[in-house]
Amino acid sequence: MTDERNFSTEALILRSRESPSGDRIATLLTPLRGLVDAFVFGGGKSALRAAASPFVYGTAYLYQDGAKNYRKLTDFSITESFSSMRQQYESLWAASVMAEFIVRTQSCGGEHAAVLKTVLSALRLMDQEPSPPPKLTLAAFLWQGVSLIGLKPDTEHCVICGLPLAERSQSRRILYAPSDDGFLCEHCTKAALEPAFSRGPASQAVTAKLDEPEYREHERISLSLDGLFWLNQVSERGFSALETASTSFVSDEIASLVFYLAKKAAEGTLLSLIG
Ligand SMILES: [Zn+2]
Repeated sequence: MTDERNFSTEALILRSRESPSGDRIATLLTPLRGLVDAFVFGGGKSALRAAASPFVYGTAYLYQDGAKNYRKLTDFSITESFSSMRQQYESLWAASVMAEFIVRTQSCGGEHAAVLKTVLSALRLMDQEPSPPPKLTLAAFLWQGVSLIGLKPDTEHCVICGLPLAERSQSRRILYAPSDDGFLCEHCTKAALEPAFSRGPASQAVTAKLDEPEYREHERISLSLDGLFWLNQVSERGFSALETASTSFVSDEIASLVFYLAKKAAEGTLLSLIG
């Protein structure tokens, strides 16, 4: 019989927080067991407590008392700690959003090993010098996360007419419509918008409401075909798409779309995305 009480696992520490009783609890992402919460004992200067901080990757040694459903981190052997990434405020912010997304989506709906591999790739990329803008790395991570959950919209075809988006959008811009859960080609965008504008005075209130920034953001998100191409590249090649694609001119619209999809996947606001 094996000793199930003590076990070790590959793990990335996602967060560390105080319990109401003042104990420290770390949340670990592991490839086989998914998210694991464990107590970390020791004073502020203990080596274990220092090791068990967010975005440290390595081998975790845990003690588990099945009867009490209680877990304790007994040791942690560090493999990578992403020290350059930590020194950049924006990278640290992006990493915090990734961690919150993983926790809130229960490691992308149970895709533990895949999401661990993806988040490690993102952290390694942000740890490089020079590295792509952290906001883009975050967008690429969230797009892959949304795909793992199975919530990636069809990027090839219009959700209304079913025809190829690229061929039906001469202006090279398309819209993402949350109410339809997909992208609209230019023709269907016009058809969808025209009734609202042609209905006369009675519809003015509706039209005015569409102009309110908050409403408009949730109603539709505009994206260029270049932005769509970038997202497809990320789907195909992962983070290596960031090394070649020119993205400076599309990063804001990509972020608007992907952050929206990520919030939807997390079923609410991602606190670390605010501010
Ligand atoms: Zn269409």
